[in-house]
Amino acid sequence: MKKVVKFGGSSLASAEQFQKVGSIIHAEEAFRRYVIPSAPGKRFGGDTKVTDLLYDCYETAVKGTDFDKKLQVIKERYQEIINGLQLDLSLDDEFDKIRELFAQGAGSNYAASRGEYLNGIIMAEYLGYEFIDAAEVIFFTENGEFDAEKTNRMLSTRLEKYDHAVIPGFYGSLPGGAIKTFSRGGSDITGSIVARAVKADLYENWTDVSGCLVTDPRIVKDPVPIEVITYRELRELAYMGASVLHDEAIFPVRREGIPINIRNTNDPSAPGTMIVESTCKKSDYTITGIAGKKGFAAINIEKDRMNSEVGFGRKVLSVFEENGISFEHIPSGIDTMSIFVHQSEFEEKEQKVLAGIRRVVDPDYLDMDSDLALIAVVGRGMRSMRGTAGRIFAALAHANINIRMIDQGSSELNIIIGVSNSDFEAAIRAIYDIFVKVRL
Ligand code: ADP
Ligand code: ASP
Ligand code: MG
Repeated sequence: MKKVVKFGGSSLASAEQFQKVGSIIHAEEAFRRYVIPSAPGKRFGGDTKVTDLLYDCYETAVKGTDFDKKLQVIKERYQEIINGLQLDLSLDDEFDKIRELFAQGAGSNYAASRGEYLNGIIMAEYLGYEFIDAAEVIFFTENGEFDAEKTNRMLSTRLEKYDHAVIPGFYGSLPGGAIKTFSRGGSDITGSIVARAVKADLYENWTDVSGCLVTDPRIVKDPVPIEVITYRELRELAYMGASVLHDEAIFPVRREGIPINIRNTNDPSAPGTMIVESTCKKSDYTITGIAGKKGFAAINIEKDRMNSEVGFGRKVLSVFEENGISFEHIPSGIDTMSIFVHQSEFEEKEQKVLAGIRRVVDPDYLDMDSDLALIAVVGRGMRSMRGTAGRIFAALAHANINIRMIDQGSSELNIIIGVSNSDFEAAIRAIYDIFVKVRL
């Protein structure tokens, strides 16, 4: 049995948290062999993650203003952990180098990556394991895409040499050696990459909640945990806002069929959530989970007989492509089509896009809705259950929430509902209640 264990920021925010992590690893040291740490996260509500401190400090450095104070605050965060763990370790040389490279403008990717790099050094010292700099084993291509095959080759060869090792999460290197990070929350991806490379039996992802919960605990108080979920369901939920796992983290492990187990560092006896390829186990509540995001706009197009005009959709979408805007959903009717986009990406280009659409398809009617939220209700069981959509709509009607859009994915794995931003939380609560509370 071989496990890769990734610990998130809050699991490593202080010496006490490091000690919990130490006990978890020592409880199964023969299995928990490759450790992926994040940067120190929030120690308490209102605290700032080290990653955010680093971005901010680097921005100050780039402006040419004095950044020593900000760097000192970061150094103290690490020193507090080193002192609390009574380690004989100094990060002075590392900080001198970071200071120098910040002053030279080494880039915000380099800056942010130091969070996990330094935490990795501490973790390796604390556990007595080999430290492997992710820059030497995780690779990106010239155009900044993750180079899965080169990484897998180099990483598996390198890790063969060690029974135990610490590999910091979140970053790797570009062909010239410059540091590049994944997007935020990317240590989850590193853990998955390492699990694939060592052909682990299990990828344990340790965080501050007891698994993937049916919905966001910041919206619904104490939502029930999901016992088993498929990779596809998890990806849908993660993409739509269930930030417990990065939505890209499923791809590397999926290639080897390695399950992910989301666990709680603060409650290690809780079984957490198993993420698997497929399962005969039915979801406990018809649906598996609910997630959502605010901040969408919809461009609504009407034109008589648009459905018989060959190439209509392509022409409309080409306008978005030309303006570098990706779309989220395209619900359509016989003579109508709406395109949902991220409002923040769209706003500055809105007039160009509207003019472009007018030019290429000459619609009868063209308008926009803004400040919309999208909610995904996800569940592998929905395909074979009648009435799921009906229950969702009834719950929303009962809560006095106006539905602005409905879209069912072709996989029948999810139903997407558009509501006003201002109805977002109430809508999630209403859907949660009808499926989960009514059952409990
Ligand atoms: P880590 O630092 O361990 O990577 P994150 O903060 O990235 O942790 O992810 C865990 C957080 O994700 C939880 O504390 C919770 O607030 C949030 N979250 C959002 N949706 C969900 C969900 N459906 N289930 C569990 N947690 C969720
Ligand atoms: N520390 C990084 C972040 O805050 C990566 C991670 O936590 O996974 O985004
Ligand atoms: Mg995370």
